[in-house]
Amino acid sequence: MAMPGPNKSCFTCQVIEAIEAGVQTQAVARLRTGYVSLFGLPYPAGYTIFATKRCVSELHELGKETRSLHLQEMGQVAEAVYAAFQPVKMNYELLGNSTRHIHWHLIPRQPTEPKLGGPVWEDQQFLDHLRRGRTAPRVEIDKWRVQLLVALRAVGVTVEQDYVQPGL
Ligand SMILES: [Zn+2]
Repeated sequence: MAMPGPNKSCFTCQVIEAIEAGVQTQAVARLRTGYVSLFGLPYPAGYTIFATKRCVSELHELGKETRSLHLQEMGQVAEAVYAAFQPVKMNYELLGNSTRHIHWHLIPRQPTEPKLGGPVWEDQQFLDHLRRGRTAPRVEIDKWRVQLLVALRAVGVTVEQDYVQPGL
């Protein structure tokens, strides 16, 4: 079956196009079923997004084989995030309400967070960063990208393409 082209009205498809064009500065890697990138907020450090290559809004729309591979890769990405950022707890979320294109939020919860007892969405400071478009310093994001790429390779997931420039 032919891969559908990017959906021009989909935010996640636009992000993927920017990654492929080399202008998305939080990208880490393209795997067999999706794209790994940093969320880039000031915290939690290493907050990772794993978006499917295909523009679908539900897991079952990937078909059985691709879904299985995607879930396997998602587990490996989460394992890499855990290894790279040493959280007190990993949070996994597949929401997709504002952009109807599957993208996992893989969130390594850090011991310094003010609201560690609940999801990040209950933390007003986190929400404030999100609404205001605050990001971590460039050097931090670039450090996280390198750490995550190293960890992805260590867990043995197939990296089709990485977007971390040599020398970072
Ligand atoms: Zn899309």
